[in-house]
Amino acid sequence: MWSYSFEIPILMILTIILGFFFSRPRLPIKRNLTFVHMILIETATILIDVSASAVDNNYASYSPAFVNFLNMLYFIAFFLRAYIMYVFSASVLKDSLHKNTLIRQVIRIPLFIGIILSLLSAFFGSADFPHFIFYIDEAGYHSGTVYNLLYVCGFCYVFLALLSLFLFRKNLGRRREKYGILLYNMIIFTALVIRLTLPRYLIMDTFVLMAILVVFLAFGNPEYYLDLRGTAFNRLALSEHLEENRKKLKYQPFGVVIHNYHEMRDIYGSTQIEEGLVLISRFLKRLMPKGIIFYCRKGRFIVLDRPGSDFEGKAREIAERFRHSWKSQTVELYLSAGFATFEMLKGTYSSEILLTTLLKSLETAGRGELDEPVRITEEDVKQSEIEKKVRESIETALESTGYELYLQPIVDVKTGEVIGAEALSRIRDAEGKIIPPGIFIPVAETSGRINGLGELAFDRTCRFIKENGLEKLGLKWINVNLSPLQFLCTDLAERYTAIVEKYDIDPQTVHLEITEEAMIDDSFLNKQIKTMGGKGFIFVLDDYGTGYSNLSRLKKCPFSNVKLDMSIVWDYCREPDEILPNMIQALKNMGFSITAEGVENEDMVNTMKKIGCDFLQGYYYSKPLPANEFAKSILQDKRT
Ligand code: C2E
Ligand code: CA
Ligand code: CA
Repeated sequence: MWSYSFEIPILMILTIILGFFFSRPRLPIKRNLTFVHMILIETATILIDVSASAVDNNYASYSPAFVNFLNMLYFIAFFLRAYIMYVFSASVLKDSLHKNTLIRQVIRIPLFIGIILSLLSAFFGSADFPHFIFYIDEAGYHSGTVYNLLYVCGFCYVFLALLSLFLFRKNLGRRREKYGILLYNMIIFTALVIRLTLPRYLIMDTFVLMAILVVFLAFGNPEYYLDLRGTAFNRLALSEHLEENRKKLKYQPFGVVIHNYHEMRDIYGSTQIEEGLVLISRFLKRLMPKGIIFYCRKGRFIVLDRPGSDFEGKAREIAERFRHSWKSQTVELYLSAGFATFEMLKGTYSSEILLTTLLKSLETAGRGELDEPVRITEEDVKQSEIEKKVRESIETALESTGYELYLQPIVDVKTGEVIGAEALSRIRDAEGKIIPPGIFIPVAETSGRINGLGELAFDRTCRFIKENGLEKLGLKWINVNLSPLQFLCTDLAERYTAIVEKYDIDPQTVHLEITEEAMIDDSFLNKQIKTMGGKGFIFVLDDYGTGYSNLSRLKKCPFSNVKLDMSIVWDYCREPDEILPNMIQALKNMGFSITAEGVENEDMVNTMKKIGCDFLQGYYYSKPLPANEFAKSILQDKRT
């Protein structure tokens, strides 16, 4: 007689897991449903197992039909449990094979065979015909000849789960999740092996409990998907939800954002703001009881509600509520909010693209400049898709295919000869078309790739200098652009020095162009320029006239040259005034030489010469050219 008392703590632990799971808000996604099924099936398996064993031990007191029935239920539960454990792996791995109806049916074959044989055992199994999983006769319960199918089926589903892990491991972002799936399947595998080799030890359910605990810790814990003290789901939850439901068009997103969130947090402090967000989240839930509220940091809420909800009306109601303070015992905040509404889409975009578009438009709405909600259209989604392609092209460029260095000549006014050049980056998209820097530089800046890209531009420029020799081309220097973000790198000097040393060139021949944006922090600016200057690098101030230029600040900055932005050059040529000539004079008095950018015709050239510019750059002389063409054209000009 077996003792089944160990099943009691197992059942208690399963109840606690389930109770905790249901006590927290949960997302209506398949993974959560499968998790609940898994616990319920395990609970049922244990209960049936205990009852069937008790009945088997005392079979004479029950009708044979009842004994058959309970044993049949047990085996069906056993097969179902093996299957559902695999389904969980497939669903968290977003296994696309499992999503295919035909493949899914094929995968279910072991389950179906198991269920059919369990049924056949109950109805036709006997000592004379023991060819199924079990049979009951006068001596009670016996295993049938294909009893081991239980193991075949169990191993089969563990194998399929591991195959799915191997094929779709990239879909799991976290290491916790990858190892979770592996560990959980290994536990089931071990349980099957022990049951097969040491059938006297009843450890199967203990192992399954361990597996369920692993799943709970790696995936099932509802806290992983919650924010704002459980009053809203987080961004991860939103991306999972969109991933699963975007094609079904059952939900329509609606965005609410706190205006100028960062400033508000600075004013009120993060504890108060956090408390206020909880109040707002609760208010949104009350206003849209059927909606699912997501909080995506930086004061951004996204509500998924039934299509056809009157979002514009809701926006007005929310705005009205924001006119009063958000008040609890510990806080009182006055905030205002912006909104974004979303046209219904055809569902052909990936969830990642939808999410980026939503969050981007909430950023626009969060600036607080608009009275109306931002209306997100298909155009915006397409724009996000383009940005994604640009990001991919940047990755390709960084792997050093698809990056091209262009050079645009800079002419010395005194001699009329080319004296230098500006290095300008180009990358190509998958079809081989050039993406202009105006598009890819901002993307690189927001995706953490600008350092790599800027360094590549610098590296290629140094290589160009090494291969062609500046003197041979009659050049004194080449300017390379430095993004304000690169300027923040505290190891910039080491990185750039390593490159000039690699090509064995003089750092004074590559001038670094920075814009006023890099000048936000005076002390940092001076420190960086001093460190870089110590290594021999020279700085040029780019796009002068577009920022809030303060002449007296410039006095302290050791730039060698100031480049006037195209826009002020054009403005002056269109409508001359006193300001620009005076400014140029002042800058020259401070010791800077002056470059005018964007000169497109002879008149502009003459005008800029007249007001004292030292160097000129623009289409009048040449557009930016691929580096080798640039070198060729300069050598040709020299010959003629
Ligand atoms: P920028 O530094 O102001 O570069 C000058 C831009 O003006 C170049 O645009 C150039 O092609 C354009 N240009 C020059 N002369 C004329 C003209 O006469 N007429 C007109 N209409 N345009 C003229 P480009 O190459 O598209 O570069 C745009 C911006 O992208 C650059 O502006 C620079 O800020 C940035 N950029 C380019 N390459 C890099 C890079 O390697 N790193 C960084 N951080 N930024 C880069
Ligand atoms: Ca520049
Ligand atoms: Ca410029």
